Amino acid sequence: MGLRKKKRRDERTASAQGWGPAAPQQALGQEWAVELRGVRRQYGRGTGAVHALRGIDLALPRGSFTAVMGPSGSGKSTFLQCAAGLDRPSGGTVRLGGTEITGMGENKLTALRRTRLGFVFQAFNLLPSLTVEQNVLLPMRLAGHRPDRRRSAEMLARVGLGDKGGRRPGQLSGGQQQRVAIARALVTQPDVVFADEPTGALDTTTAAEILGLLRSAVDTMGATVVMVTHDPSAAAYADRTLFLADGAIVDRLERASAAEIGDRLKALTAPAFAGVAA
Ligand code: ADP
Repeated sequence: MGLRKKKRRDERTASAQGWGPAAPQQALGQEWAVELRGVRRQYGRGTGAVHALRGIDLALPRGSFTAVMGPSGSGKSTFLQCAAGLDRPSGGTVRLGGTEITGMGENKLTALRRTRLGFVFQAFNLLPSLTVEQNVLLPMRLAGHRPDRRRSAEMLARVGLGDKGGRRPGQLSGGQQQRVAIARALVTQPDVVFADEPTGALDTTTAAEILGLLRSAVDTMGATVVMVTHDPSAAAYADRTLFLADGAIVDRLERASAAEIGDRLKALTAPAFAGVAA
């Protein structure tokens, strides 16, 4: 009983801060860009079951930049996959831009991913045989829309590659390729951009440029970015950092420095915490 009361109080505190259940924006009838309620993901059954996500409650406003961190095996990839409709939760609901994707058929889900989500991966994932411009136009083509060349030129200019539309990805540096991927992710004005270790393959200076681009997409275009990273200095670009441990959100920081984020992460991997969590 006491515990339940405490849980409710914690939930209220969390909602006031915009990342927990029953959030104030919802009361105003506004939609969240990303909303997870009680999301669980279990691999296998019985005694051998792995609980990769143990009930994630999360509501992220439009125009926000969120970093997700946690020790290896804490559930970051599973979280990203479930939030982006690439994997199906064992329980709970996921809403993207107000649309519930849980239970959506595969074709509809694929269409939604193409038009309403953007992806940026560690390995850039550009198509090498296409030009830079064709890569940026790809989400529109796949969605069956008329490719808008003016829009792709605008996006390439935004990421500082206005003169590279005719090149192939192989003729560009890693940082330039990731800029193309960002232009491609933003071209459809998606509800959410999911970034999975977007700077994992880049040197520090180039990484800072890429993170600056993501930050400015949020600040100037109203984009919503959710980024999984293991790097506290990357997470420091975000508005908030969520910490996962053992399949649950166990901590968060708002507008924190890389040092603060690094310290919090270290605390999660410390043996004392592992003892408490077990
Ligand atoms: P992270 O990205 O933080 O390293 P993951 O989401 O990859 O964590 O994994 C969370 C947990 O789920 C881990 O214990 C992992 O071993 C387990 N897991 C992930 N994918 C599978 C799978 N396909 N089958 C079984 N267990 C899995």
